[in-house]
Amino acid sequence: MSKGTALLRQQNEKRTLALLRAGKHSSRQEIAAALGLSKNTISLIVDKFIKDGVVKEIGADEQGGVGRPRIQLRLQAEAYKSIGILIQHSYFQYVVTDYCQAVLDKGSVPMETDDPEPYIGKLIHLCSELIRQHPEVLGIGIAVPALVDPIEGVVHFSSHLSWRNVRLKERMDSSLPVTTKVLNLVKAAAIAPSSGLPAEHSSNSFYLRMDEGVGGAHIIDSQIYSGASWTAGEAGHLCVEPEGPLCSCGQRGCLEALVSIPAMVRQMQQQHPDVQTEDDLGRYIAEEGTEGSRFQEIMDKSGQYVGMALSQIILLLNPGHIVIDSPFHEVDAFKQSVLSTVDRRALKLPTEKTSILFIKSSYASSVGAAFAVILDFEKE
Ligand SMILES: [Zn+2]
Repeated sequence: MSKGTALLRQQNEKRTLALLRAGKHSSRQEIAAALGLSKNTISLIVDKFIKDGVVKEIGADEQGGVGRPRIQLRLQAEAYKSIGILIQHSYFQYVVTDYCQAVLDKGSVPMETDDPEPYIGKLIHLCSELIRQHPEVLGIGIAVPALVDPIEGVVHFSSHLSWRNVRLKERMDSSLPVTTKVLNLVKAAAIAPSSGLPAEHSSNSFYLRMDEGVGGAHIIDSQIYSGASWTAGEAGHLCVEPEGPLCSCGQRGCLEALVSIPAMVRQMQQQHPDVQTEDDLGRYIAEEGTEGSRFQEIMDKSGQYVGMALSQIILLLNPGHIVIDSPFHEVDAFKQSVLSTVDRRALKLPTEKTSILFIKSSYASSVGAAFAVILDFEKE
């Protein structure tokens, strides 16, 4: 087989895997038709996958008695696995997923220091142990609350960690048998299948996450758009109140300074000094607060700020879907306020055509980081 033919064959193998992973095509005939390839080509690929234990035949589909029965195929999702890690100030979270993002193993490791050297030492130690237990691991994805160069795998700056210009990928790759991909945590969450965006992200979507900070990601044709210097989608620093509170970026009135969880905790404290942490705020979220209460007031105001930012995003990017990932996904005062503000402020046509979805995903960043490794594997 020439080098060119081998490369083509490998690409067709990856495209076949991607189709089986998506679960919409499950016979040799369907795959051949979807990829525009001959049934012979696909049969050779599938036979190899069956031999390697990556695909299994699971019986024939009779098609209502018309034509030859099609043998149904199923991907053996545990034939390939991926590790996903989310880095935080005082702990890191990890998952091991199969090829279809089912979580097989997960946990959390407390960290006493966020000093990069001991931190990376602990990451390497955990990953070697996970790879020993799961030799099918293809690679490692690490989500970091920071400005990240995803190509070089360098963590440039983080307002949540003391890391500056940390060559994370290089350090991990030199100590482990598989390679590491480094991503910003919001961008990782945006590509997680649990993030609520349409399955194949083929459309133009925007993902907004409200957490310790506020961040966003713009997805075009299944790809996260990073921009010229990796800051595309940083919706947390859109100004929504010119004279508003000071933000960690040095500006005033950024969305993050008004609607991040710590910002809301501070706003609640003005009337309820007992609210100290996200968990304390959580009690009010569960009760939704009573009409006219401080909590409802904050939800309404926060919804307006998010709505103002989204109106600008809708005008600028015209996304088909927007997903808001926050702990307030079930709070009516927040949701109504977001929707009515968008309705008032953005142009009628794009607003009508944009679907806005409210969700809360807890493992999205680590699962998304693991998923990024699978997507890269399919593109190699
Ligand atoms: Zn800011």
